[in-house]
Amino acid sequence: MAKVMAVNAGSSTLKYKLFEMPEGKVLCSGMADRIGHDDGIFKIKYDGKEEKITLPLPDHSKAVELLLEALTKYGVVKSLEEIKCVGHRVVQGGKYFSHSVDFDEEAAKKIDSLTPLDPLHAPAHLTGWRAFEKALPGVPEIAVFDTAFHQTMEPEDYLFPIPYELTEKYDCRRYGAHGTSHQYLSIKGQEDFLQGYEHTRIISCHLGSGSSLAAIKDGKCVATSMGLTPLGGVMMGTRTGDLDPSVMEYLCTCTGQSVEEMYNIFNKKSGFLGVSGLSNDTRDVEDAALKGDERCLNAVKLFARRVADYIGQYFVRLGGADLIIFSAGIGENSGYFRRLILKDVEEALGLKIDYEKNEPLRGKEELISLPDSKIKVAVIPTDEEYMIALDCYKRIKDAA
Ligand code: ADP
Repeated sequence: MAKVMAVNAGSSTLKYKLFEMPEGKVLCSGMADRIGHDDGIFKIKYDGKEEKITLPLPDHSKAVELLLEALTKYGVVKSLEEIKCVGHRVVQGGKYFSHSVDFDEEAAKKIDSLTPLDPLHAPAHLTGWRAFEKALPGVPEIAVFDTAFHQTMEPEDYLFPIPYELTEKYDCRRYGAHGTSHQYLSIKGQEDFLQGYEHTRIISCHLGSGSSLAAIKDGKCVATSMGLTPLGGVMMGTRTGDLDPSVMEYLCTCTGQSVEEMYNIFNKKSGFLGVSGLSNDTRDVEDAALKGDERCLNAVKLFARRVADYIGQYFVRLGGADLIIFSAGIGENSGYFRRLILKDVEEALGLKIDYEKNEPLRGKEELISLPDSKIKVAVIPTDEEYMIALDCYKRIKDAA
C-alpha cells in the first residue's frame, strides 16, 4: 500500500487528490484557488468533511505548504513521509513524451522549451513541480502528459498539410489533448463492456467545457480531434474548434483587431458562449434552447452536429466500432446532448438506443444501447487523477 498525490497546477489554481494505492481510495481532495491574490481560497475534502479557508496565497509554494500542513492537521496522514510519489498533470508533452516520465531537471527543461505551444499551463506546471520538490525533497515526482496517449497516431493523422519545412522547424502538428482521460475511458470501456473481444474499436467522446474525441484501436489512439493546441476539433464552451483558417485573416481585416486579439476571441469568447450570446455553461444554453431561444438552439445543434461528424469520421477511420463512450461534464450528465448527437448518427451506424434510460442518466457508468444495437454505447465517468495515481504507483513498484 502506498499514498500518492495527483496534482493539477494551473496558472492560478492547484487541484489535488491523495490516493491510497493500489485500491484507488481517495483519502482527500481539494484545491487552492486564486493563487497570486490576497483573498486566496484553500479547500480540502476528507473523510466526509469539508474545510475552506480564505487567506493570502502569494504563490504556488504557499499553496503546497498549506496543503501539506492540512494533511497532518486534519489527520489525513500521520506523517508526510507516507507520501511516496507525486504525479503532475502536464498539458503539453510535444514530440518528446509518449508516456509518463520522472519529473526531473531534464524533463523540466523540455517542458519549459514547449512553453510556446502552451503558454498558459507550462509555467504553472513547472512552478507546481518546484514547490513540491522544495516541500517534499527526495520524494519521486512524475509528469503525466495530456498529449502522450496520442503519440501513437500515424503521420497522416497528425500532420497538417503545410510546407514540410514549417512542420519540421517548428514542430507544428497535431498533438491532441485529454489523452489521460481517453486512455482511462479506453481501459475502462474494454474491461467493462468488451470482455472477450480479440480486437477492440472505441470512439471516446470527452465532452466538457473543453471537448475532444479519440478513435482507439486495440487500446492505442489512432486519431483525435484537438490539434496543435486544445483550440482545435469540436466546438467547446468558449473555443471555436476547427475553423476555415481564412476566418482569422478575414475577421482581423474586417475588425482591425490583431491576430493576438482574434486568437483570444477564438479561445475565450466563442463556442457555446459566442454562438448563444448567453453562457459557456451548457446547462444554461440547454434550458434556454428548450424555451425556444433561437441562438441557444443554434449553439446546441451546432455542437451536436460537430460531435456527430467526428463520430462518423472515426467510425470510418476504425473500420467500424464496438463501443462509443460519452464522458466528462456534458457527456456524463446531459441526456439531452447525448440524444441529439446519437439521433444524428444512429441510422447510419445501426445504433439502437434506450432513450428512456439515457435521458435521466447522470454521472454513472451505464450502457445506454439496446442488445440489438450494432455498436454498444455507454456513459463512463472519467477519472484523470486516478490514471495519474496509477502511473505513480507503477513508478514506485518499478523502483522497488
Ligand atoms: P472541465 O473541462 O472544466 O473539466 P467538465 O468536464 O467538468 O469541464 O465539464 C464542465 C461542463 O459540463 C460545464 O461547463 C457544463 O457545460 C457541462 N455540464 C455539467 N453538468 C451538466 C448537466 N447536468 N447538463 C449539461 N451540461 C452539464
